[in-house]
Amino acid sequence: AKARVLVVGGGYGGAAAAKYLRLLSDHRLDVVLVEPQAAFVSCPVSNLVLGGSKTLADITVPYDSLRSRHGVTVVKDMVASVDVDKKVAVLASGSQIRYDKLVLSPGVELMFDQVQGLKAAQAEGRVLQAWKAGQETVALRRQLEAMPDGGVYALTIPEAPYRCPPGPYERACQVASYFKAAKPKSKVLVLDANQDVTSKGPLFKKIWAEQYAGIIEYRPQHKAVAVDGNTIKFDFNEDVRADVLNVLPPMRAGQIAVQTGLANANGRWCQVNYLTFESTAARDVHVLGDSIQIAPGMPKSAHMANSHAKVAAAAIVAQLNGWDVNPAPMLTNTCYSFIDARNVIHVASVHEYVAAEKTFKPVAGSGGVSSGPTELEGVYGWNWAQNIWSDTLG
Ligand code: FAD
Repeated sequence: AKARVLVVGGGYGGAAAAKYLRLLSDHRLDVVLVEPQAAFVSCPVSNLVLGGSKTLADITVPYDSLRSRHGVTVVKDMVASVDVDKKVAVLASGSQIRYDKLVLSPGVELMFDQVQGLKAAQAEGRVLQAWKAGQETVALRRQLEAMPDGGVYALTIPEAPYRCPPGPYERACQVASYFKAAKPKSKVLVLDANQDVTSKGPLFKKIWAEQYAGIIEYRPQHKAVAVDGNTIKFDFNEDVRADVLNVLPPMRAGQIAVQTGLANANGRWCQVNYLTFESTAARDVHVLGDSIQIAPGMPKSAHMANSHAKVAAAAIVAQLNGWDVNPAPMLTNTCYSFIDARNVIHVASVHEYVAAEKTFKPVAGSGGVSSGPTELEGVYGWNWAQNIWSDTLG
């Protein structure tokens, strides 16, 4: 029988892994992808839906090509549990799937219990996160539209590491660009648990001071610990009242990874062998994307998840064939941030495997950041999204 790889999660890491496992094995591997969503909705560029220049349809891609072009078996379901000794996964619907290799790319779990009152406020739809793009992104946009001019939108950011270091700062820009055009007396309050802006800091601060003066206010070292009605409470600072609350709690590896006992770094993230992305907690289980314990300088990004997927897929095909695993994999990353509907800044990096330290490190002199926002980078940023959707799902 054909060897089977079961991929859990059809996001940036999982979908790319499924496609590249089929391509790199010359279609010899049986690849099954389990994903509950009917279509892929991109987190990257989803902040543009909040800004109002894109719709959910613009950032949604079907799974059809994975099935018809690449022969991946896409199953619309959830993996409820995994027995890593028996190598069997049980789906929420009750059926079982046996595997030779398991790939988990379940993204992040939002740790609602770390912010008192947040779980209830979220369940009632009062305080949204929209940190997984979809209907919640649209619901948050509606809250912003319903807010009167002169209102306050408050965005809280958890301590790093969290999904997408520049994502909250891009979101602040998008909401501010909407307010500037549609309700100019309104404010964006960014309440950051970190010491300072954790990505592209000088660039964002310059843009806030020049383009969004009087709209965006940034307050570092504000760790949200509770929400109560329209009030956010912090560990040390004064309470903040806002009209629209967007509270991002701390994050950890996707729930199925934690539940399977793979989150062996502080109980939050999954340690992997960076040559193969195989878990250090279970054999023949490979973890990708946001769920992993990051190497120095490695962001939790879609571009990184896609890069992890290619290294892991090549390693899995090599292992199943008894070939040597590539001893010197490389990863690349670019994160574009839309500061309004058209102008964009980026940060880029290249990461090499350093065998002596068994980790990835940024290559000295590689990458860099924009000198300032431009419309040309806006074209690059939107094309980056089209390209990665095509590479991951096309
Ligand atoms: P995901 O892409 O979230 O995929 C996880 C998938 O697993 C989901 O589809 C989920 O339904 C599925 N799943 C979970 N549990 C199970 C289960 N038990 N069974 C079956 N399926 C399951 N990155 C960039 O590179 N560039 C950007 O510009 C950028 N902008 C961002 C903006 C925002 C607002 C946000 C929130 C994120 C942004 N990111 C960006 C980060 C990027 O979205 C993530 O890093 C990326 O999605 C990680 O990929 P992943 O495969 O780990 O998780």
